[in-house]
Amino acid sequence: MIEEWLEQMKNQVNTLEELKKYINVSDDEREAIETLKTKWGTTPYFASLMDKDDPNCPIRKQVIPSLKEQINEYGMENYLVWKENRATEEIRPDSIARQYHDRVAFTVMQVCGIYCRHCFRKELVVDRDLQLNFDVEEGLAWIAEHPEIRDVLITGGDPLLLSDEKLEYLIAKLREMPHIEMIRIGSRLPIVLPHRITEGLKKAIGGFHHVPVWINTQCNHPKEITEKTAKAVYELMSCGINVGNQAVLLKGINDDVDTFRELHQKLLRTRIRPYYVFYCEPAPGIDHFRTPVEKGAELIRDALRGHTTGLAQPMYVLATNIGKIPLMPDYYIVDKNKKEYTVRNYKGEITKIPKMPD
Ligand SMILES: *Cc1c(COP(=O)(O)O)cnc(C)c1O
Ligand code: SF4
Repeated sequence: MIEEWLEQMKNQVNTLEELKKYINVSDDEREAIETLKTKWGTTPYFASLMDKDDPNCPIRKQVIPSLKEQINEYGMENYLVWKENRATEEIRPDSIARQYHDRVAFTVMQVCGIYCRHCFRKELVVDRDLQLNFDVEEGLAWIAEHPEIRDVLITGGDPLLLSDEKLEYLIAKLREMPHIEMIRIGSRLPIVLPHRITEGLKKAIGGFHHVPVWINTQCNHPKEITEKTAKAVYELMSCGINVGNQAVLLKGINDDVDTFRELHQKLLRTRIRPYYVFYCEPAPGIDHFRTPVEKGAELIRDALRGHTTGLAQPMYVLATNIGKIPLMPDYYIVDKNKKEYTVRNYKGEITKIPKMPD
């Protein structure tokens, strides 16, 4: 019998006819699907979470192409070459993106469970304009030869779409390298295809080991989380895998105080620890998803810090070609003099502490 997650992948919703089984497609959506030459699609499971009648449904906006994708006033051309430092002198396989001394991103896959309309890797994953060669053996060989790498971030596409056998092989190979201390997997599947968390997967990547596996998923709106998500996350944790979230700040989807707070509280209720919120990157064709850069810090100030559990607070970052840059709110220190600091809390209340000499 074919596993349910493979069945879901086989039955991807990626035609107008299929989509009509889930929602009343709007005229704009229909026109975008018929005219844009772009890859799109979703698992039937994630499609079933869409609102039938509301084109502003946060899931519809992440899944269904929009005519706005043709507009590119602010996006950078050749974004990924800039972002992933592919134009530098160090010779690396295409599969290895490097911005730091001790850790790399290792791309092993170009296929995804859904093709997010806001994806910053769109040139590669969605529109396929950029042709790169993702050879897993070549990447593994490069990592083996670089003892300064202690942390490998397996990414894609969606790496959890590899078979259990391939994942087991990949993780085992990395765990054999004496310099690898931890492995991270970036995958949207716990959200868009929780059926992927099977006993076979748990066996392939879980278990007690001195090289732990962390999964970071991407969830951008509370509506994306279901009972199935909660069960899948629990299964991952039950075999020693930590689960975190990397959200993207998306205009009209999660950039208001109530949604932003509910997203982070619901993640914790689901046992997912918020890790990052990313500024929506200046990749081409996604202007309509992008807010001013200050927005994320304002939301942390107005929706999270002090307003809810401290564990619910992610770090807001701008991902650039020189690494991630934190952009946290900085309202805390109001004043300082030779004797004391004046500090402010989330309610605007003020208190003072003595200043220490160096
Ligand atoms: C995001 C990223 C990392 C990991 O950064 P952390 O801040 O450690 O999560 C590493 N390498 C590249 C190329 C990245 O884009
Ligand atoms: S799952 Fe990730 S890589 Fe794939 S389209 Fe979405 S954001 Fe891009």
